[in-house]
Amino acid sequence: MTVLQSLQQIQQQISAACERSSRNIKDITIIGVTKYVTIERTEELLAAGIHDVGENRTEGLLEKYEHIGENANWHFIGTLQSRKVKDIVDKIHMIHSLDRLSVAKQINNRSERKMDCFVQVNVSGEASKHGLNIDEVIPFIEQLAAYEKVNVIGLMTMAPHITDENQIREVFRSLRKLRDEVQSRNYTHAPCTALSMGMSNDFEIAIEEGATHIRLGTKLVGS
Ligand SMILES: *Cc1c(COP(=O)(O)O)cnc(C)c1O
Repeated sequence: MTVLQSLQQIQQQISAACERSSRNIKDITIIGVTKYVTIERTEELLAAGIHDVGENRTEGLLEKYEHIGENANWHFIGTLQSRKVKDIVDKIHMIHSLDRLSVAKQINNRSERKMDCFVQVNVSGEASKHGLNIDEVIPFIEQLAAYEKVNVIGLMTMAPHITDENQIREVFRSLRKLRDEVQSRNYTHAPCTALSMGMSNDFEIAIEEGATHIRLGTKLVGS
C-alpha cells in the first residue's frame, strides 16, 4: 500500500473514533513514526500531507534531518541520553519522552527557545518500559519548574502489547486522569493539556480516551 492509501484508511478510522467519543478530528495530530523506514518512504509521508514526523533515536533523526530538514516538524519519541540532547535540540519541535532531570537540565542549557515536552509515564508498570511511575509524575513536574526552557505540554505513555482491549483502555484512562490532575494545578511551566498516546494497534482506543497526539509507524508507513 502507498502511504497515501494507508493514511486515507487511518483517517476514516480516526473519524469514526472521534464520532464515537464526540471529539473533533482537528484536535488530533498524527505523528508519522519513520524509525523503520527509508528517507524515500519518509518523503512519501510528507507528500501525503503528514508533516509531523517521529524518530526514536538521535542517529535516525539526524540522518533524516540531513535530507528533509525543516520540511518536517521533528518529534523525538525515544529514550534520550542527556549527552545527546545537544545534537538534536535545535532541530526538534517536541520531545515525547522526558523522564529524567538530567535531560531537562541539558535542554535548559542547550536550547535557545522553550521546548515543548511530554513527560513519559509507565502507566502499566511493566519493567521493560521507560517512563515514570504514576506517583512520581507530580513531584517530577514540580522539579521541572527550575528549568525555564522546559514547557510540559502533556503526558505520554505506551500501552502494553496485549490484546485485552479493556486493559489497554484502562492504561489510557489512567493517563488522562493524571493529565487532568496536573492541569488542575495550574503550573505555569506545565499547562499539561495534551496526551501523546496510541500507536498502530491501539490508536482508536486512545482517541476515544482523549489522545491529542497519536504516533503511527507500522500502519502508516510500514515496517
Ligand atoms: C515505534 C514507536 C511508535 C510507533 O509504533 P507502531 O506500532 O509501529 O505504530 C510509537 N511510539 C513510540 C515511542 C515508538 O517507539
